Amino acid sequence: MPVLSEIELAFRFLKGTLIGITGTNGKSTTATLTHKILAEGGRRAFLSGNIGVPLLSFARESRPDDIYVIEISSFQLEYIERFKVHIAAVLNISQNHIDWHGSFEEYWGAKKKLVAALAEGDFAVLNRDDENVWALAGGPYRTYGFSRSRPIEPGACLKDGRIVLGLEKGASEVLMPAAEIPLLGAHNLDNVMTAALIGRIAGVPIARMRESIRSFQALEHRLERVAVVGGVEFVNDSKATTVDAAIKAIESFDRPIVLILGGKDKGSDFRPLRLAVAGRVKSVVLVGAAKDKIRTALEGTVPMAEAREYGEVVDKAYAAAAPGDVVLLAPACTSWDMFQSFEVRGETFKSEVRRLAAERKA
Ligand code: ADP
Repeated sequence: MPVLSEIELAFRFLKGTLIGITGTNGKSTTATLTHKILAEGGRRAFLSGNIGVPLLSFARESRPDDIYVIEISSFQLEYIERFKVHIAAVLNISQNHIDWHGSFEEYWGAKKKLVAALAEGDFAVLNRDDENVWALAGGPYRTYGFSRSRPIEPGACLKDGRIVLGLEKGASEVLMPAAEIPLLGAHNLDNVMTAALIGRIAGVPIARMRESIRSFQALEHRLERVAVVGGVEFVNDSKATTVDAAIKAIESFDRPIVLILGGKDKGSDFRPLRLAVAGRVKSVVLVGAAKDKIRTALEGTVPMAEAREYGEVVDKAYAAAAPGDVVLLAPACTSWDMFQSFEVRGETFKSEVRRLAAERKA
């Protein structure tokens, strides 16, 4: 019996243009921003896929002038046959879901199918700074790269602190100063460059995109600022379920961090966190099923405390912090040992922060 994923089935009935966004981290943020840029640029754009709205739900009503911005996971790509998009973006690739795919190669193999399906006349938007991703450049399709570290033309890059982009050599335009992007963290520049390149390919003028980006708010549970209590800022990045996302979160602050780590392990190697915590993280609060594995991986780097539930997590993190510090929930694990979802974990964290704030006022 053939096993097909839902996007494959939808593809067979859908009219309109398909844009696929994949990568280990940043898919939801980028897909949401891309959709905003296209919709505010006057297109009939729909946001779908892994972000929560099945592509199949559009099959019956779809029209040829529709644009579908689809967040696509490795699981969905595992079971495609004919599914293809017109514009494929790959944000980055790092270790994830090894418990399910079995190995990095299998996981990356699934992701690569999105680009492998592109044909002449299609577009690939690829991270020039990620060697694995950039190895996909050069096919019958047109490739646009984006980079934070080197000049790129055509494509998108940072120049003198500003994002510059263009689809032809010699035709680059300034999108905006990076400092005007209302999102925490340098990694969000990748997401913005990707969304803007897609917007440009779809013909949305630069000035219009600039407004859409300026008014974009961080999604809930992605480096979301929660509250400042006694001079300590609490930030909720419950969606940082991978080691790489946790590292990106740590790198987003230039203040001392008390870091909350732990949850259900996905077969990840936590040792890359050793380098990231050095000099930035003053202490760690461990919670959840993976706490022993993380403790072993971080042995000898920073002081570590343990907590059983999120009330204790918030209290211990607050006790370890000083005014001006950040308490950061970026657990590098899934939530499924203690919660139904990363959303419930983030909500629980936020409500414990509110409880702490109320107690401090009383
Ligand atoms: P996804 O849908 O791929 O899980 P999200 O936009 O929901 O992506 O973000 C997931 C996590 O990754 C969050 O912790 C977020 O702060 C972090 N993140 C977002 N964009 C990037 C990026 N380009 N590179 C690395 N980490 C990112």
